[in-house]
Amino acid sequence: MNEKTVMKIKDSVDIFLSNERYLMVYYMNSRQRKSFRVNAEMVHLLETIDGEKTVAEITSIMAEKWGVDSECTSQIMDMLQENRIITEVIAQQDMLSEKLIKRYVRQINYFSEFLGSELEGIAAQKKLMDSTIIIFGCGAVGGNIAMQLVMAGVCHIILFDYGRNEPCDASRHMYFRKQYIGMNKVDSLKAELLRIDSDADVRCVMEWMKPETDVETLIKRADFVVNTLDEPYIGYTASKISRICVKHRIPHYIAGGFDAHLASTGELIIPYVTPCVECYTTHFREVLKDWKPKKHPVESRYTEIGGLASMSLFSSSYACIEIIKYITGLVQMEDSYKIRGEFLFHDMSLTYLNVKKNSECPICGRCEKDEP
Ligand SMILES: [Zn+2]
Repeated sequence: MNEKTVMKIKDSVDIFLSNERYLMVYYMNSRQRKSFRVNAEMVHLLETIDGEKTVAEITSIMAEKWGVDSECTSQIMDMLQENRIITEVIAQQDMLSEKLIKRYVRQINYFSEFLGSELEGIAAQKKLMDSTIIIFGCGAVGGNIAMQLVMAGVCHIILFDYGRNEPCDASRHMYFRKQYIGMNKVDSLKAELLRIDSDADVRCVMEWMKPETDVETLIKRADFVVNTLDEPYIGYTASKISRICVKHRIPHYIAGGFDAHLASTGELIIPYVTPCVECYTTHFREVLKDWKPKKHPVESRYTEIGGLASMSLFSSSYACIEIIKYITGLVQMEDSYKIRGEFLFHDMSLTYLNVKKNSECPICGRCEKDEP
């Protein structure tokens, strides 16, 4: 621990003394609790760590006022830091300006509880800010994901959609404004993103996803890809995008296109680690092999399937949490990724599918480094 470093109790922990003998520590973000047997000197040390004094000043006070030698103070402070109870006070430094630290301080505090120090929290914030993310589909789910990612600090976004805003988007799109009706979705969404962060670099691609559309050139520019494009249909766009992403080892999230299942969580796909879109397709082919669709009795019908803004917000928020966890490295998603789930509002149940990565999958079954 550097002598000149200023230390403080982390903003994300609450500490209490129980019977003057136990220090109870509550980690507010992860909901963990720990207790430590403490003596009077340790309590004095915690009282001295006030976010203003340097390590050298704290060590000196502990020695002169309480008779604790410097090695003992240093060991206890190391223990407090290892247990994520104290952290160094962050000031403007190379990674992020003071203005940006203030803007994202709550997120940084949140990240730091999982990662350790607030400096690591800043590094996580920087990863978000340096990422380039493409969002295919700017509807209810894609639009909400874009807004939440820019709020989280993602500065480089590419929006891909051909559609225009319609009056019925009022009840589903968080970025809907009356004056946007008839306007391109990408342009209106870009306008809203720039209202959140005028420094964001937002590029728009107004195209249909056709078989001949070259999205590979676009995808190769990205660090992360989100697909919510449901035209011509989600199965087609997801398959096309996932194949390219797996080929270039780009992590991606398949979300949206949820007309048939309104509050799906979607799924994070880490190439060669999680099941890819083809693995999901194989799974459904297998579980539905005995299902014989019946002819529909009605020849033509009105098929605007219902939905609430809350439903698309649920899906987009779930997706954003997973995306942010992955990009920041907050959680080792390779070990704790989730398979697609579906949230049902009427009984508040969340049920996950049982899809496994298929070792025979033609897309992700064999790691390319294993190829002869
Ligand atoms: Zn696969």
